[in-house]
Amino acid sequence: MNKSVFAAVSAAALTIFSPMMSASAHVTVVQGDDVIITTTDLGDGLYMLEGRGGNIGISVGEDGVFMIDDQFGNIADKILAAVAEVTDEPVSYVLNTHWHGDHTGGNAAMAAEGATILSHDNVRKRLKQSLDVKGELEEGASSLPVLTFSDTTTFHWNGHEIHVFHFPNAHTDGDARVHFRTANVMHMGDTLFAGRYPFIDLDSGGTVDGYIANLEAVAALADDNTQIIPGHGPLSDKATILTTVEALKAMRTAVKTLVDQGLGEDEIVAADPLANWNDDYGWQFINGERMTRTFVRDLKS
Ligand SMILES: [Zn+2]
Repeated sequence: MNKSVFAAVSAAALTIFSPMMSASAHVTVVQGDDVIITTTDLGDGLYMLEGRGGNIGISVGEDGVFMIDDQFGNIADKILAAVAEVTDEPVSYVLNTHWHGDHTGGNAAMAAEGATILSHDNVRKRLKQSLDVKGELEEGASSLPVLTFSDTTTFHWNGHEIHVFHFPNAHTDGDARVHFRTANVMHMGDTLFAGRYPFIDLDSGGTVDGYIANLEAVAALADDNTQIIPGHGPLSDKATILTTVEALKAMRTAVKTLVDQGLGEDEIVAADPLANWNDDYGWQFINGERMTRTFVRDLKS
């Protein structure tokens, strides 16, 4: 299997961007245009694109490009340039794995290129609501998915059977995972943060139980050769999923012990029940405190 990795777009020397995080959605606002898109060939016309935001998966072939997630609108030209390095065909479809801006920010740009945007029903609802709150419903209309599904749907495209399936209440309430069945490749969206604390968006219908149950369901589908694109982090495999499940269960137990003792959220944070994991799993967006608060809020809900 060809796994050559190459940078499709060269970068300017200076990095000027400021990640802006909110409590309910991990939206990173990119300023400047120095993002490098890195393309990894997974074989069978499938590629993983890493830039800024959620990892992108694409299927290329004579039918056109089927894209999974599209990062941010202000790097859409870079993403399209990276796509053009591996195919002359246009982007026909973009599937949003969930509603967060670091996975859907390029929707309007891709729609302008002629792509049809697809998602779970709740992704469209949440994106629409978010535009409405900002008073941008009219100008943002082209960024909304035009084709939505409730449970599963299958695309027969570029010779693939692309099985798209929903799992309720994991990272959000609208998560879609994508399984290229014969190619044995999966895109997990943010139902997998490889090697780091996951963001479980309780305010968007995510739950810890659902998050873990989803990973277990995916592990049952995967085999030792399955290539798994996580929402964030490096290309992964079944072992990554199993390790993540084990770690999340142990973390939750550590927090639950303190919840069961009747401690309040701040007291539990002060006790640092995830101390054993913070060095390995903590990162810019989800540190030990934030992960602890997620477990506490989920357990108490
Ligand atoms: Zn997300």
